[in-house]
Amino acid sequence: MNFDLDPADAAFQAEMRAFIRQALPADIARRGRQGFHATHDDVQTWMRILNARGLAAVHWPRQYGGTDWSPLRRHLFQVELRAAGAPVPDQAALELVGPVIYTFGDEVQKARYLPAILNADTFWCQGFSEPNSGSDLASLKTSAVRDGDHYLVNGQKTWTSEAHKADMMFALVRTDGEARPQAGISFLLIDMKSPGVSVRPIYTINEGLSVNEVFLDNVRVPAENLVGDENRGWGYAKFLLTNERTMSAETPHTAFDLEQVKQIAAVEMRGGRPLIEDPLFAARLARFEIELRALETAVLRVLHMGDNDPALNATASVLKLRGSELRQRIADLAVEALGDHGLAVFPDVEGQDNMDVLAPVPPAPDYAAGWLSRMMFRRATTIYGGANEIQRTIIAKSVLGL
Ligand SMILES: Cc1cc2nc3c(=O)[nH]c(=O)nc-3n(C[C@H](O)[C@H](O)[C@H](O)COP(=O)(O)OP(=O)(O)OC[C@H]3O[C@@H](n4cnc5c(N)ncnc54)[C@H](O)[C@@H]3O)c2cc1C
Repeated sequence: MNFDLDPADAAFQAEMRAFIRQALPADIARRGRQGFHATHDDVQTWMRILNARGLAAVHWPRQYGGTDWSPLRRHLFQVELRAAGAPVPDQAALELVGPVIYTFGDEVQKARYLPAILNADTFWCQGFSEPNSGSDLASLKTSAVRDGDHYLVNGQKTWTSEAHKADMMFALVRTDGEARPQAGISFLLIDMKSPGVSVRPIYTINEGLSVNEVFLDNVRVPAENLVGDENRGWGYAKFLLTNERTMSAETPHTAFDLEQVKQIAAVEMRGGRPLIEDPLFAARLARFEIELRALETAVLRVLHMGDNDPALNATASVLKLRGSELRQRIADLAVEALGDHGLAVFPDVEGQDNMDVLAPVPPAPDYAAGWLSRMMFRRATTIYGGANEIQRTIIAKSVLGL
């Protein structure tokens, strides 16, 4: 496989870089480059700019508003977005539920939900995990009982990212309590404004708000919101989780972070010289970059694999494992490079999600903004999307045959 850019791909990359730099509003780019969680408004504004150009979901099939770009071009586009500081879009919608709807949903669901995702009219959250069902997801207990043309849903979801901003939740619910666990689960789309849905925030170690508990108390969900067949939800979830793990490699994000760490190390002084000139630190950065390049190559290989390739599941687990570890290590390196400035906690004033728990502005340069928060939040990268211990088990079974 040859990953060198041919002239046409290089021209494509230059065109996308120019387009993004010109189209991305400067204030949104500045917030993005500072590493704060993107706000609802920033995501919506940017998604609508992309959608007007047909670029909101370049990895979707063209018939649903995507493109027919090659995997390499889709990857290059992501790299350019991250490098410019574009806000991370609603991944639950674009990467997770969108593909499930266009693959397994009916025509009414496709027409109703897909355009609204592309235009960021509707934000989504993923209601899979429950207090006692994370790694052992098939044990989930939230029940959906058919009642005429509705389901009556009762239960609790937890760690639900962005539930406090979401309009809709795609949830796994138990529709058959007698069948074996995997065979009694269905995939339901729940309007977050339905009576009986309540959301309680969970503040994380970085004093941010992105995860929540969601309580479902006699929530009436129209039966037409069932995706695919009743009791086949586990299969749709497995399809979705493979996408989630491929996405978890997050190499464009890590490449962006690496460039920032290099810039920090070029100006932060240690022992009278820039940190980047310290041979030990420079060697660690070089080693990191080699590992990142190796992972980027692996991502490109996976993007070339067919959707039905039997190795896809295990390969996605490898990407998740390595990608999540690199996400943590680059944030650790950044905070270390910042020295005392690494302790600075910048208030996410423009994010406005957590105004009540903000710390005062510290005396530190702008480039220190957000890094301590990111370092702390990234403890979660080896947990979400399926904990890394579980990925190791998948790899051990399906690759090593153990
Ligand atoms: C920041 C964040 C965001 C999240 N967002 C969402 C979301 O939007 N939607 C959603 O549905 N979920 C979300 N999650 C939940 C996430 O998917 C679960 O936390 C994850 O699957 C682990 O489940 P758990 O927390 O119940 O831990 P547990 O499953 O209880 O695991 C605890 C520990 O035991 C280990 N362990 C468990 N079983 C095994 C085993 N069989 N072999 C070896 N080790 C094992 C795990 O690896 C882990 O280290 C999020 C989590 C976090 C931290």
